[in-house]
Amino acid sequence: MKVTRCLITAFFLAVSVRGADEVIALKAARIFDGKSNAPVQNGVVIVQGDKIVDAGSNLPIPSSARVIDLGDGTLCPGFMDAHTHLTSDFSGDYNQHRLKEVDLNVSEQAIIATSHALATVEAGFTTVRDLGSRFVGSHEFVDVALRNSINKGVIIGPRMLVATKGIGSTGGHFDPTSGFRDFLFGREADYTDGIADGPDEIRKAVRFEVKNGADVIKAAVSGGVLSLADEVDTPQLTPAEMAALVDESHRLRKRVAVHCHGDDAAREAIEAGVDSIEHGSFMKPETLTLMKKKGTFLTPTLMATEWIMGKLENYPPALQAKAKAAAAARSDMFRNAVKMGVRISFGTDAAVYPHGQNAKEFKLMVDLGMKPIDALKSATANDAELLGIAQKVGMLEKGKLADVIAVPGDPTADITATERISFVMKEGKVIRQGPPAVQKIKNTASPNFAAPAD
Ligand SMILES: [Zn+2]
Repeated sequence: MKVTRCLITAFFLAVSVRGADEVIALKAARIFDGKSNAPVQNGVVIVQGDKIVDAGSNLPIPSSARVIDLGDGTLCPGFMDAHTHLTSDFSGDYNQHRLKEVDLNVSEQAIIATSHALATVEAGFTTVRDLGSRFVGSHEFVDVALRNSINKGVIIGPRMLVATKGIGSTGGHFDPTSGFRDFLFGREADYTDGIADGPDEIRKAVRFEVKNGADVIKAAVSGGVLSLADEVDTPQLTPAEMAALVDESHRLRKRVAVHCHGDDAAREAIEAGVDSIEHGSFMKPETLTLMKKKGTFLTPTLMATEWIMGKLENYPPALQAKAKAAAAARSDMFRNAVKMGVRISFGTDAAVYPHGQNAKEFKLMVDLGMKPIDALKSATANDAELLGIAQKVGMLEKGKLADVIAVPGDPTADITATERISFVMKEGKVIRQGPPAVQKIKNTASPNFAAPAD
């Protein structure tokens, strides 16, 4: 009996050691390493276990290696999206979404979220910064559960850095009870929902979110498009509240991302020392100059306004007006930011549009004046730096985790090639080679299933 158990243990040990030792050589016509100014020919990435052993042009391939030849494609580091909401999907009819949010059990919404995670990683996004997950009337931390389940290998999805609830003021963009009848949920939202007023409460909310698993702190410092009780560009935190937010987060070694459309709020947030401005629609050139001086990242989320503008009839009139104003301002703002050399991170606000279409952001960036190579760097080296994980991912080089994707053709010649990923590897494991599995889920889904559509 003991001997049998020993033999079984030895067998599994041998299998796992062999698995860890297997050398995989990825080959393609080109390679973009995540930081250089152009792809180079004859790309090779050698992977062993979860790490990159070597990467470059015309490298010798070890005879023991399993070769995966990706043909006339370009090997790239796994893309990153610095602004997602994997636990939600509000890409359809806005009012229906509000009803569904209070109608569906949070556990069911969490299960649906697993399909969003799969769609995202299969689209080539091996890392996301997930900036806010809340369910009105519920204290569940679904984003933390999703992140942990992915890390444990229970489900397949991107590496997630999560923000939990996000922090905002009473009645502001993040107040989950805004727009509903007063006291429908029996009490005002408080720090346990991320809603805080005054510097001390803000500190408490930061501590509460870190206690419950936040990797990054998100706050709403100005109004937003998809909220019913605010104007899109008004400041929603005071400079004293922003100072407390940044100080408390940085003391706990957490970066701060702020949702912000308005120019005044952006200037105050940048002065307070936030790490990134999300959206930034109405930012004036002087504010962009301040950003550049301070090294603050801009996460433009062009996909969000693009999607809403294409489906305006899905939103109530008040939100349509806010979306139009933000869309009218954001293109000039983005062009100015590119011209001025503001640091730009890649982030899309996935959930506003159906999950898995993240790469469409690349073309929007290029159409507004960004060089294709710079757009690619925004989703690789830049995002890795903003997320504070550049030692581990974001580049194809020796010692980094083996997050490798393949894009057909040359994405610097046709940036939309990023929308047609042919291969995804995360930490040395092949997640996709051929058609995405998420399609199969979509086809068998019930009509109520909130899987990516359109
Ligand atoms: Zn967002």
